[in-house]
Amino acid sequence: MKRLSDIGEFGLIEEISNKFPSDEEIYKGIGDDCAVIENEEDYTLMTTDMLVEGDHFNLDWQTPWEIGWKSIIVNISDIAAMGGLPSWGLVSIAFPSDIEVNFAEDMFDGMKEASERHDMKIIGGDTTHGDLLTINVAVIGRVEKENLCMRGDAEIGDLICVSGDLGKSWAGLELLRAGKEGYTDYYLQPECRLDSARKIAPYVNAMIDVSDGLSSEVRHICEESELGAEIEKKKVPISDRTKKTGKKLNIDPMKWALYGGEDFELVFTIPPEKISNIEDENPIVVGKIIEEGLYLIDGEKKELGEGYDHFRS
Ligand code: ADP
Ligand code: MG
Repeated sequence: MKRLSDIGEFGLIEEISNKFPSDEEIYKGIGDDCAVIENEEDYTLMTTDMLVEGDHFNLDWQTPWEIGWKSIIVNISDIAAMGGLPSWGLVSIAFPSDIEVNFAEDMFDGMKEASERHDMKIIGGDTTHGDLLTINVAVIGRVEKENLCMRGDAEIGDLICVSGDLGKSWAGLELLRAGKEGYTDYYLQPECRLDSARKIAPYVNAMIDVSDGLSSEVRHICEESELGAEIEKKKVPISDRTKKTGKKLNIDPMKWALYGGEDFELVFTIPPEKISNIEDENPIVVGKIIEEGLYLIDGEKKELGEGYDHFRS
């Protein structure tokens, strides 16, 4: 019998999307960082992300405040990836019965701080029981028509850029898993690139946020755009801190950058002649869009591998 681990997270999403095809009322349904509905003056953006105890967070390492913070940031990051702004949040939680009230309060404090930081208001949700602490956040936002950035709008010759260094979150997770001290702060309290996204959106063709590693995100852009890409390994930005962590754990940090995730940086494609407009945002060019194929240039031209998959990891 076929199991989810056979088809993987993205195989399942493809099956779901065949069941719920788009129609003319939906500007973009399944397949981007947010669903997009067209209004007269702008677009409404909708996204949702779920965090499950033991899978997305671990109560031994993360404080309730940090879990709350992260649950909001991961969603706002998807709004940022469309070039938009978050407006409203709905928070649904399944709590095990023995969770202390203080724990829940701290978690909501983390959610409040992350939401206020990005001018989003929490306006509802749902509370229920579950054996594992499970948090689902849904965010509704908006984007001006000229600023909408979709995964599928890359063009041949576009430069592929990232907004900052990669692998930093997975490095922290591996340290925590190994029970070692080090740079875990980014994993525990990630940021998203909303401000930067707003500034680059007018010039960008395609954009996505890094939740599953650079390789996976570039693959999504290429699949939606029906094009290919070349990534130059030596241009993939990895900080000295992340390299130090790699040495400590004897793991090549490039693995975290390409196939890890949760960095919540932006990956975007931009025509070469427009990149001077976004100099202040320090874009890092890592490759270019080509007609077909997905390659990693590492001295020779290799196939680009796949990123994180929840059913296969
Ligand atoms: P992201 O990493 O940006 O949050 P995902 O990889 O989770 O995006 O999802 C990719 C696309 O698949 C999105 O458009 C999302 O709305 C859609 N999707 C994921 N899971 C489901 C589901 N259970 N039902 C319907 N659509 C889904
Ligand atoms: Mg995303």
